[in-house]
Amino acid sequence: MKVEMINTGSELMLGRVLNTHQQWLCRRLADLGHVVTRQVAVADTGREIQNAVRDALKRADLIITTGGLGPTSDDLTREVIAELLGKKLVPNLAVRAHIEHFFARRGWPRPEKTEVETLVPEGAEVFLNAVGTAPGLAMKIAAGNPAALTPQWLIMLPGPPRELRAMFDQFVGPLLKREFAETIFVCRTLRTTGLGESRVQELVETDLQSLVAQGLEVGYCARPGAVDVRLTARGAPAGPLVAQGEAALQRILGANIYGQDDEEIEQVVVNLLKQRRKTLAVAESCTGGLIANRITDVPGASEVFLGGVVSYANSAKERFLGVRPETLLEHGAVSAAVACEMAAGAREKFGSDYALAVTGIAGPTGGTAEKPPGTVFIALATGTGVAVKKLLNPWDRVVFKQVTSTQAMEWLRRTLSGPASSAES
Ligand code: ATP
Ligand code: MG
Repeated sequence: MKVEMINTGSELMLGRVLNTHQQWLCRRLADLGHVVTRQVAVADTGREIQNAVRDALKRADLIITTGGLGPTSDDLTREVIAELLGKKLVPNLAVRAHIEHFFARRGWPRPEKTEVETLVPEGAEVFLNAVGTAPGLAMKIAAGNPAALTPQWLIMLPGPPRELRAMFDQFVGPLLKREFAETIFVCRTLRTTGLGESRVQELVETDLQSLVAQGLEVGYCARPGAVDVRLTARGAPAGPLVAQGEAALQRILGANIYGQDDEEIEQVVVNLLKQRRKTLAVAESCTGGLIANRITDVPGASEVFLGGVVSYANSAKERFLGVRPETLLEHGAVSAAVACEMAAGAREKFGSDYALAVTGIAGPTGGTAEKPPGTVFIALATGTGVAVKKLLNPWDRVVFKQVTSTQAMEWLRRTLSGPASSAES
């Protein structure tokens, strides 16, 4: 089955709005077993929309358009598609009642312009908008229509994400189940850290070869400080194929896998701390609070996260963490000794079980031959002492912070997980 998506909106082409429909709908459709085969975004002129739909009708079994169903002059999707398919637009009483109710409930006068939203192509299925006014529309295009080759479905969804998402879950999902044969699609992502993208592939590809020959698809996605390995398969053997692939990855990559699917490392760390009934504090210099920020993105972090100090200046390291002036003088702020004192200081001041500390040179300036930009020391204080690592993350500042915070949390994750084998660390 071929599924195509057409996102309309000049704001997308001007780079003013991120096309989140593309990601959200592709994800939802894939979860239902319908992987999108082609996606385009077009400006919201009638001609562009009509051309895109005409093109898609040559190939796709299912076409989904987004945007342009509203009442303003740039909302043309409904009209141009009706025109292309030779359908008359007729007023729909249920839609009119819905829109009248929408305004009456809020005590607002109903704008005259909303009348256009009550117009529906003849024979279309109507999705009443649970959170707005413009309805979604679904049309079965019979074989024999001059624009279509075989029976096809065309679904039009409104542009505002809140409206589109609610409507998809309420109407589109059930329609797809009703109209299209169920296709099994299984997707599992294993998230790794500590290995580069090509190294991950090198390590796993031989062992996955026989599964790939049976239909398993393997994808690699590099992110700052992490690599995702995605396993997908379709049809009856999909479940077992993906499960065998996953088992192979677990065996080979071992402790480098920190989570699966959408799991973030901070969620894993918070969960482990909860399970072990342990608490965490942080002392951050070059990450500027990013570790604390990521940890506090996780609901329930307050059970395990006591707090942190963003000690950017030497004076702050001394004052709030008890780093000794002699240590700073002798080793410099970016040093193993200072990282250790920061971690020990944070653990003591906050009274936590664990404390992570980072100090480094984010760059682009401030490096020396011995400590080039990207140099970072990460220290971890536990009940048994303080350990420190020196790493080099020579990326721009934003990526540097992301990678460094991931490395710090990964160290704690491994400590909390106990001894386990890893491909490399
Ligand atoms: P409205 O009734 O609000 O006019 P509509 O169906 O006509 O709805 P558009 O006018 O195309 O939809 O878009 C409405 C708003 O929805 C846009 O201003 C934009 O913020 C958002 N939007 C539209 N398309 C996308 C997209 N692909 N990704 C993210 N947001 C989008
Ligand atoms: Mg609009």
